[in-house]
Amino acid sequence: MDKIVSLAKRRGFVFPSSEIYGGFGGFWDYGPWGVELKNNIKNFWWHEFVHSRDDIFGLDSSIIMNPKIWEASGHTGPGFADPLRECLSCHKRFRGDELSEDKCPVCQGKLSKEKKFNILVKTFIGPIEDETAVAYLRGETAQAIFVNFDNILNTFHPRLPFGIAQIGKAFRNEITPGKFIFRSREFEQMELEYFIYPESDKEQFIYWKEFCLAHLKKLGLKSENLRFYDHPKEKLSHYSKGTTDIEYKFPFGWAEIWGIARRSDFDLKQHSRFSGKDLSFKESDSGEKLLPYVIEPSLGVDRLMFALLSDAYCEEGKRVILKLIPQMAPVKAAVFPLVSNKEVLVKKAREIYSDIKQSLPAVFDGRGNIGKRYYAQDEIGTPWCVTIDYDTLKDDTVTVRNRDTAKQERVDSHKLTGFLKKQLNS
Ligand SMILES: [Zn+2]
Repeated sequence: MDKIVSLAKRRGFVFPSSEIYGGFGGFWDYGPWGVELKNNIKNFWWHEFVHSRDDIFGLDSSIIMNPKIWEASGHTGPGFADPLRECLSCHKRFRGDELSEDKCPVCQGKLSKEKKFNILVKTFIGPIEDETAVAYLRGETAQAIFVNFDNILNTFHPRLPFGIAQIGKAFRNEITPGKFIFRSREFEQMELEYFIYPESDKEQFIYWKEFCLAHLKKLGLKSENLRFYDHPKEKLSHYSKGTTDIEYKFPFGWAEIWGIARRSDFDLKQHSRFSGKDLSFKESDSGEKLLPYVIEPSLGVDRLMFALLSDAYCEEGKRVILKLIPQMAPVKAAVFPLVSNKEVLVKKAREIYSDIKQSLPAVFDGRGNIGKRYYAQDEIGTPWCVTIDYDTLKDDTVTVRNRDTAKQERVDSHKLTGFLKKQLNS
């Protein structure tokens, strides 16, 4: 765990938020390579869940919505509250369900009685800060999908089954954020609500579980680090017919990475009731009305990024290598002049670099010795390093070094971009 957190900071993936002010618990900033990796994760999800299908529609809703939405969904009630206990001596706060003993784990002091603490993040909208102005930062992206269900029906006229997908930030005032970016107070979700005929509930649930697992494997996560975990019946919400998590074996243990829930018609029913708007689906042929059931696969971008970093982290002798699949690597190619004090080599390397950069994310590095440059690229997972040497000036070939095998081959510099793209897509 320490090694991954340290690499993430040292190489510009993840920084603690507000660090020069002493940080701010439960918040993180993503540096240059972190934002590239996150974008790769999101783009691949969007590709598989939206672009490559014709039954799923995209959405990008607002973060602050009418507060009634959170009443209807149950988020302002006890269902979205964590058990809070405070130490009467040192005043540290803990989640009741995470304590193993009935005393403060820090100072052994006496603990307060448990009270319910709602984890929605509150704010005020408008110039007066009273109860009537309270609004919430969304606790999940899903509710915005349910409240736009009718808009999608009226503008796109889909048939069942169909889905609505959204990527976006969500906020939870966690009592104990932690485990690096696993549990933060601000995080990003990739959620799909898939609307189905009630009788296909079980079959669709099985389909989406497998679809999601296959997605994680395509990202390169090792099968032995992934497993299904079925929530026991007694722990399910009253409306749920079943929830399965896909768990990942993080450095701190197995934990949820993707939740796949059978939400029945609970949400559409609640929003129909609270808004007074009929949210049923109307069959185009018969005119018959029904409330669809919903399968919800819900995944956190930050958690997935943590899993990818953990899975890819690898030490070979003194080398640290991030063996991300090339499609996920923040940088696809690094370009080096063999030495930095020869003007002709630097000039040639710059030319080749600007050429690659037209079509692939690439970096240029001319500092220090070449071994150190390889080392730095291995640590951020760059799959190919391209070196321009004296032979390049004679025959226009360059050396391409493969990150995982450390094997080098000569490639015609005019065909280099095509060569890299071919490797990337293979
Ligand atoms: Zn204490």
